Amino acid sequence: MIYLDHAATTPLDPAVISVMENIHHTCYANPSSIHSLGQQSKVLLESSRKTIANSIGAKTSEIVFTSGGTEANNLALIGAAKANRNSGNHIITSKVEHPAILETCKFLSENGYRITYIDVDLNGMLDLNQLHEAICNETILISLMMVNNETGCLLPVNEVAETTKEKDIIFHSDAVQAFGKIDIDMTHLNVDLLTLSAHKIYGPKGCGALYIRQGTKIESILYGGAQEAGRRAGTENLGTIAGFAEAVNQLKKHSTSFRSLQDLGRLFEKMLKDEFKNLEINGENTQRVAGLSNVYFPFMAGDSLLMNLDLHQIAVSTGSACSSGSHKASHVLKAMGYDEQRVNNSLRFSLGRGTTKDEILTTVDVLKKIYNNINNESAAPPRKIY
Ligand SMILES: *Cc1c(COP(=O)(O)O)cnc(C)c1O
Repeated sequence: MIYLDHAATTPLDPAVISVMENIHHTCYANPSSIHSLGQQSKVLLESSRKTIANSIGAKTSEIVFTSGGTEANNLALIGAAKANRNSGNHIITSKVEHPAILETCKFLSENGYRITYIDVDLNGMLDLNQLHEAICNETILISLMMVNNETGCLLPVNEVAETTKEKDIIFHSDAVQAFGKIDIDMTHLNVDLLTLSAHKIYGPKGCGALYIRQGTKIESILYGGAQEAGRRAGTENLGTIAGFAEAVNQLKKHSTSFRSLQDLGRLFEKMLKDEFKNLEINGENTQRVAGLSNVYFPFMAGDSLLMNLDLHQIAVSTGSACSSGSHKASHVLKAMGYDEQRVNNSLRFSLGRGTTKDEILTTVDVLKKIYNNINNESAAPPRKIY
């Protein structure tokens, strides 16, 4: 199988597997237990926390482990909204956020909060003027993702962070797709809450973290024990947390393969554009992360193309895994203003650490084959030529 769906999830790093296996055998005690075995687990929990904190320039006390990016986003939005309710009820986000943000906002809007969704343009760039105009006295929270998971486009988190600095507004960023791909340094970035997830960086699924800047008012959304300094109840999932930390350690070792990923991504896009007339890269003119291409194929619907590629042992996806499961058209491409045909005929290719040049060449070959097949089929009754 040629796996080009790394934005949906990444395979586990072998070093992560071995760390996790070891921990599951040896460190099974509850980190909250007083006995020495429990304290051993506690030490491992805290050293894992330190690894993750260090990787983004945070203090260890500012990292709260969660069951993933989704829970961290829920905690950030619901937790901050509840804790700051007496300062206002207005929340600002963008139209291209992950469902874990958009659905949480929907829940909040049904519970007395007012949400403003900011537009993006054809290149996936946020309308900063609209955002500035939306800010009012009631605004308590802004949530803006760092990198979009469907297009790879960077959003202007830095610029917005400067805006919220002078005002008393909490700023959250979903950095799940940015982490490990672009530098994140919380000592310089004026972000109060930041979401991370392990399984997008070759770590285990079901593990994530929320960075909570010291002094940020936030309420817990789970009720139970006093774990994570009272910010997230429930016995810590130590094996996966240690796996998460190991995945972060491994990021450094792979920083050179990251550059080759950039070259591979560029090669892929160039070959596609040379090969297929009228093919376009969605969000092409925006700064994007390496290895993620959302591609418009004029000649075939995205879901058909996905199935055809799958028959040729190539795994890709249409937009986000969450929305493709329910066969909804991409809300991200729609928000970018593309017409229905373009939205339906787009596919996401996300390359990863293990992707080779051969795999890229094969993928382009297979796409050519699929294209030629539909052209031959349509030879008799003339079909619309794109
Ligand atoms: C994958 C993803 C999430 C969800 O993270 P999980 O750990 O799968 O819950 C949130 N935001 C973005 C941008 C993502 O890509």
